[in-house]
Amino acid sequence: MTARILVVDDVPANVKLLEARLVAEYFDVLTAGDGQSALAICERTPVDLVLLDIMMPGMDGFEVCERLKSNSRTAHIPVVMVTALDQPSDRVRGLKVGADDFLTKPVNDLQLMSRVKSLVRLKNVSDELRLRAQTAHTIGLQELARPDRPDEPGNILLVDARASSQERLVRALKPIADVSVISDPQAALFEAAESSFDLVIVNANFDDYDPLRLCSQLRSLERTRFIPILLVSEQGRDEMVVRALELGVTDYVMRPVDPNELVARSLTQIRRKHCNDRLRASVQQTIELAITDDLTGLHNRRYLDNHLKLLMGRAAARGRPLSICITDIDRFKYVNDTYGHDAGDEVLREFANRVRATVRGADLACRFGGEEFVIVMPDTTPEMAAIVAERLRLAVESRAFPISRADTLHSVTASLGISSLRADGDTPEALLKRADMALYQAKNNGRNRVVAAAA
Ligand code: GH3
Ligand code: MG
Ligand code: MG
Repeated sequence: MTARILVVDDVPANVKLLEARLVAEYFDVLTAGDGQSALAICERTPVDLVLLDIMMPGMDGFEVCERLKSNSRTAHIPVVMVTALDQPSDRVRGLKVGADDFLTKPVNDLQLMSRVKSLVRLKNVSDELRLRAQTAHTIGLQELARPDRPDEPGNILLVDARASSQERLVRALKPIADVSVISDPQAALFEAAESSFDLVIVNANFDDYDPLRLCSQLRSLERTRFIPILLVSEQGRDEMVVRALELGVTDYVMRPVDPNELVARSLTQIRRKHCNDRLRASVQQTIELAITDDLTGLHNRRYLDNHLKLLMGRAAARGRPLSICITDIDRFKYVNDTYGHDAGDEVLREFANRVRATVRGADLACRFGGEEFVIVMPDTTPEMAAIVAERLRLAVESRAFPISRADTLHSVTASLGISSLRADGDTPEALLKRADMALYQAKNNGRNRVVAAAA
């Protein structure tokens, strides 16, 4: 993971120390000695994370953070505030100005790396989301153009053996999430797999159970592998924390738990989970858009080209019949010329609806282009295909099509050509070609009819 990190501190020795540790982990490091230059750098260059000292002469860390978060060009950069251990009030103020995380001085290596990596990962997914939202916006896909939304409440599963700590942690987390509590780690695994949580918090306080076992089980189950895990560990158990992070635990806090720290870290993990979920959904949506015809919602030609080959291969391998039907609306140009292009579109949509209503679920209906549609019918003999085609022809002819803008109805008919898979070897091109020839004949023979290609 590589990222550009800005270290801000007025004491050069502190800057040097953090810089050396981060460079050793192959991060790209920028430095600033005061708030003003930190803001200038963030405006000027892409920064993935800011490590921000609080006590600085002139503009202090709170003000820098507040300004970063209120500027739309820098608001998405995660900010980690470096606070003194004995100043819990600093954390409250930090949260108020929008800090994403805290580190305490003197900065411990394990904390530094786990926090930095955790936030950089979050920023990577949210950057990707923002990029897609921009593209979606540019090409007018409003449903995909949803940039950062306000935080939705998260669902947390808290696994904790003791009633007293359960109560304390639930109280801290209440403002940001719905918390379910469970004391038995094995039951927790089932619960996590059954429900949809945004975060599992594992408090390592079981009498005779290794909490890392639960963490590793959560990581290996298909249904839970993407849920972030936050480990609550005893002070001084660094080796356990290292093992946990290696197992894929996302973050940790030490006891005694500072409620503000717990809230900040939980929020980061919940945001990341939500971002990831949206990213996955948008990939799914992008795929659907790429294979769907905008106007009618049927599959598009690209999809047909790919899928017909598969369906034909399968039919041939199993010795099953397969037929296709190409249909073209008769005198469609007349609709456009008389009522306008929008009315033409309306007719195309209604035509697609009638196609959908006529075919079975296993059939593949596509808009082939313009006012031409193709229906692929697996397991369908030429005789059955002729019946389906006739049914569609009738469904079109029997009810006139509404033209809303002219407040009228227009009678529409269609011509249809069908062809069927040849047992002695066939290709999608040849199959489509034969159906197209049959369609041409239907047009020539007077339109509004079905013609089957010679076998
Ligand atoms: P035929 O009976 O021989 O099929 O005559 P036709 O008028 O239907 O055929 P022709 O191919 O001459 O015209 C098809 C028309 O369909 C021309 C084109 O502008 C129109 N068209 C193609 N795609 C769309 C579309 O997405 N929306 C609208 N409104 N019209 C379209
Ligand atoms: Mg036509
Ligand atoms: Mg045409």
